[in-house]
Amino acid sequence: MAILPVITHPNELLTTKCKEVKVFDEKLASLLDDMYDTMIASDGIGLAAPQVGETIQVAIVDLGEGQEVIEMINPEVVEISGSEIEIEGCLSFPDIYGEVERPFYVKVEAQDRDGALYELEAEDYEARAILHEIDHLHGVLFTSKIIRYVDLEELENEEDES
Ligand SMILES: [Zn+2]
Repeated sequence: MAILPVITHPNELLTTKCKEVKVFDEKLASLLDDMYDTMIASDGIGLAAPQVGETIQVAIVDLGEGQEVIEMINPEVVEISGSEIEIEGCLSFPDIYGEVERPFYVKVEAQDRDGALYELEAEDYEARAILHEIDHLHGVLFTSKIIRYVDLEELENEEDES
């Protein structure tokens, strides 16, 4: 296991449409393990493979609330509903935060590290993190969806309040 360097904007790998994963092997498993270590070391709640230089459809999400880490290979959004505006950040944009509107609920179909298909439902901040990572796999960055930038000072004040 290893901590990988996180690619930051601007870098064309971040805006590349990622390829479908067809081989579910040891290499994929160790990429997932390395991505997890990298996400934890970077204090993130999600990470997509292009952020560590691999333009393949692999992403992870872990809100750090004790559940199992969500590993999504070739994920597809099959249902969304509702909408919510919240502040988001991204490990590829250090120090940039902004309000983004996203669906409140999402249903995703994805494969696990062994290639087995599964379905996942999420709401609220978990749905937001999942959709943010899936966007990465299509080369879509959250900055293209920010409706209002939030400076660090404002962010810290909000954190103090909650
Ligand atoms: Zn991101």
